[in-house]
Amino acid sequence: MNGLMMHQPLLVSSLLTHAERHHGRQEIVSRRVEGDLHRYTFSDLAARSRQLAQALEALGVQPGTRIATLAWNGYRHLELYYGVSGSGAILHTLNPRLHPDQLEWIVSDAEDTVLFFDLTFLPVIEELAPRLTSVRHFVLMSDRDHLPDPAGPILAYEDLLKAQDGMYDWPEFDEAAASSLCYTSGTTGNPKGVLYSHRSTVLHSFAVALPDSVGLSARDTVLPIVPMFHVNAWGLPYAACMVGAKVVFPGPDLDGGALYDLQETEQVTVSASVPTVWQGQLQFVKRRHLRFTTLRRAVIGGAACPPAMLRELEETHGVTVVHGWGMTETSPFGTASVLKNTHLQAKPEERYAVQGKQGRCVFGMDLKIVDDAGRELAWDGVSAGHLMARGLWVMSHYFGQADNDPLVDGWFPTGDIATIDPDGFMQITDRSKDVIKSGGEWISSIEIENIAMGHPDITTAACIGVRHPKWDERPLLVAVRKRGSDVSAEELRAHFEGKMAKWWIPDGVVFTDSVPMGATGKMLKAPLRERFQDYLID
Ligand code: ADP
Repeated sequence: MNGLMMHQPLLVSSLLTHAERHHGRQEIVSRRVEGDLHRYTFSDLAARSRQLAQALEALGVQPGTRIATLAWNGYRHLELYYGVSGSGAILHTLNPRLHPDQLEWIVSDAEDTVLFFDLTFLPVIEELAPRLTSVRHFVLMSDRDHLPDPAGPILAYEDLLKAQDGMYDWPEFDEAAASSLCYTSGTTGNPKGVLYSHRSTVLHSFAVALPDSVGLSARDTVLPIVPMFHVNAWGLPYAACMVGAKVVFPGPDLDGGALYDLQETEQVTVSASVPTVWQGQLQFVKRRHLRFTTLRRAVIGGAACPPAMLRELEETHGVTVVHGWGMTETSPFGTASVLKNTHLQAKPEERYAVQGKQGRCVFGMDLKIVDDAGRELAWDGVSAGHLMARGLWVMSHYFGQADNDPLVDGWFPTGDIATIDPDGFMQITDRSKDVIKSGGEWISSIEIENIAMGHPDITTAACIGVRHPKWDERPLLVAVRKRGSDVSAEELRAHFEGKMAKWWIPDGVVFTDSVPMGATGKMLKAPLRERFQDYLID
């Protein structure tokens, strides 16, 4: 016997309808590419998203059509989030930091037919357009005054909207339909597409908003610094509509000072980005002896949050760090390091140790760790194994690869190596391709990097496994010193004494000016391994 309850499909448009009806006066503030600060409300967002949906229809866009964006975080990009998916088409966010050849490959693989882009990317589009053969329309996300002369095939976003009256009803369809598409950064081989559904996106928004994750509410002002082209800005543009939080978009300027000003003037309470961007902000405030006066929670993910960063945010600024882990294939929210009541009486050191882990699952997501033979390992906080994920917003297949089952017994192999403690807190020790195998034993490169980053003279640290005549592989630390520092390799090695097992201490330290970064702000270790692989042999 079925229950006798209404059945409403979980659709992206329903988030917007809710925001319009229940939080219509809530604000969305955007620093625009044009340079000024733009403000409007959820009501305005809803009205313009409807006009956009009509404009898409006028351009011949059908349900299931892929629509690409090459854009920063801003209100027009948010309108595309809702207008495209709400109308039944699929939003494909492109990462502008990718090489043009890779962009060309991705657009062609996705068969994008319309491409919306910010003014910043006009030169890229003018160069790339002839190679993007699937794209029928290029739309500049601005008004006609900013169109190039001659505009050629480029349309102006504001013209498209102006031509529509906004009398549009969001269509109702199956919640299993695709809503958006993101490609993994493809550090090995070609990037792969992950195709989210309306259902997974709405369920993921609930998860992001829960108190044991980002904990978003109508009392918050959220600043998604994490780009809207990086796994849907971790779901914040959807979750903000779900709960009616004020939204502040930073546009293209992610400089520490610009972000600080925006955070303070708009009274931001929650802000989210990768550790490298947080580091820029912390350096800025430290140099000027400033404090974050309204910020309450700092969401840090995408790469491991160094313990020194966690401590500085908590102790100097009174900001609670929510360290999160996830990946494109998990929508991305997988875990968050939010304490349980058993930790509340713990000493700060013990609390930081728990918060420094990647965290635990909320309902809807599950994890396990397995050994090389696929046997599940104990949750003792010590046994490290391959991290497997499954859940309501975890991918089942890559886009266009229906015949290729990436799952193992129904679990997605994340490619990460992790421990899980008895309270369910997961800790990443490595990416499986970065793990260092010394005499057959694993050494965690992340732990070594965390300790190195705790040294006051070090700004960036990458630990890699390099060849060793006796142990096959030994850790080598590649570090960037603070400007003016002359800390020596020996002093840095001494800094590890007593902080980890002796045999984990890196055999060598090399100082460089910078560490190569990928398109999503993560360190690229492959070029370092290539460069230094014989460092301990020569
Ligand atoms: P890609 O895997 O293509 O680089 P993703 O953005 O999907 O792009 O990255 C997911 C990976 O990032 C995870 O599998 C993990 O290795 C790493 N990662 C994400 N968050 C964290 C974190 N908090 N700590 C350590 N690693 C993280």
